[in-house]
Order: sequence, then structure tokens, then C-alpha cells
Amino acid sequence: MSQDCIFCKIANGDIRTAFVAENADAVAFRDINPRAPLHVLVIPRAHFDSLASATDNLLLGSLLGLAAQIARDEGVDDAGYRVVINTGADGGQTVPHLHLHLLAGRHLDWPPG
Ligand code: 5GP
Ligand code: ZN
Repeated sequence: MSQDCIFCKIANGDIRTAFVAENADAVAFRDINPRAPLHVLVIPRAHFDSLASATDNLLLGSLLGLAAQIARDEGVDDAGYRVVINTGADGGQTVPHLHLHLLAGRHLDWPPG
């Protein structure tokens, strides 16, 4: 765990948050400021600052698989959804703990702003 990392605290239970799903590698919970009717964050239990510093490709696959599983469980896979990993300053990342956004429930414009 990284000291003072809010997502580490959520993952290890220091900040109580309802999990949509969890497995050995990751936990998933609803975004506090949802940008779509379904907006779930999937984060590794282990701390990585961002995708740029994530070295474990098996873990990355696990995170992506969990996002797809949640989409199925939430019933949005037929209509479609988007998985986003904001990375670094230009990527718009605001929380420095690797996370995937799962967004669904409305049409999502492309390209993003
Ligand atoms: P980023 O901008 O880094 O890609 O995404 C960070 C996301 O984390 C934002 O969508 C923000 O709303 C969400 N977030 C920040 N703090 C918390 C929190 O304490 N709880 C939850 N559930 N979401 C958070
Ligand atoms: Zn962290």
C-alpha cells in the first residue's frame, strides 16, 4: 500500500466502500461522481501509480476481464460500454492509483474531450 493513497485505502477497507465485484487481484466500486448511468472503477489491490508504471501484464488482463464481467453482470454488454484508463497529466488522471473506468447506460461520444 502507498501511504495516503485513497484507492489503496478503499481496496484494503480503511475507507468503507461497497464493492460491485472483487477478486484476488482487484476490487470494483461505483464512482463517487458518475459520468454515466453506470460508472464503475476497477482497481488493483496492489498500488501502481498509473498504467505507465504497471509492469504486470497478467494483472492488467485480470483487470480488463473483471471490467467485462461486471458489464455482463450489470446487463450492459449487449448495448455496449466503454473502458477507459486515464493516464498521467495529459490523460486526465486525477487519482494516482491505476484504475479502469467502466462507463455505460448512455451513448458515449467519440472522440472524448
Ligand atoms: P481519474 O480522473 O483519475 O481517471 O479518475 C478518478 C475517479 O475517481 C474520478 O472519476 C472520481 O470521481 C473518482 N473518485 C475520486 N475519489 C473517490 C472516492 O473517494 N470514492 C469513489 N467511489 N470515487 C472516487
Ligand atoms: Zn494506491
